[in-house]
Amino acid sequence: MARPPKWRWVEFIPKITHFKPAGLPMRDLDEIVLTHEELEAIRLSDKEMLEQETCAQRMGISRPTFHRIIKGARGKVAEALVGGKAIRIAGGRYRVVKRYYHCHSCNHSWDGPLVTCPPEETHCPQCESGDVDGKNESDGRGGRHRRRRGRGEE
Ligand SMILES: [Zn+2]
Repeated sequence: MARPPKWRWVEFIPKITHFKPAGLPMRDLDEIVLTHEELEAIRLSDKEMLEQETCAQRMGISRPTFHRIIKGARGKVAEALVGGKAIRIAGGRYRVVKRYYHCHSCNHSWDGPLVTCPPEETHCPQCESGDVDGKNESDGRGGRHRRRRGRGEE
């Protein structure tokens, strides 16, 4: 029996997933694929400036695994910048740390990733009220994730 894959937790799902060098047609470009967990590693380590130990905990992985992921991610970004290649963010083995929303006006509930760019709209998608509560999925961060919690996970 194969071991089930180990998921990496990511808090951030980008809306912009394709970067390309200006002025060159796509057909002339090589493309580098950065996975969602590689992007998350770059975000936590190089944008949020967190210690690797903290980054590893946030993603629910060991420090050596985090080190391997961030090294691979930086290598890919370097290759794209130096080699003039496009970057696409796609795929990976990850689960999203969610934020749950609830609308007090119409009682509608929905969820989204914890961090988005641009920031998630905090108006109800159903009635457009701004009377909305957001709650973090505390289960999805720090330490191990033995159990999958909740509903609607693909
Ligand atoms: Zn509503």
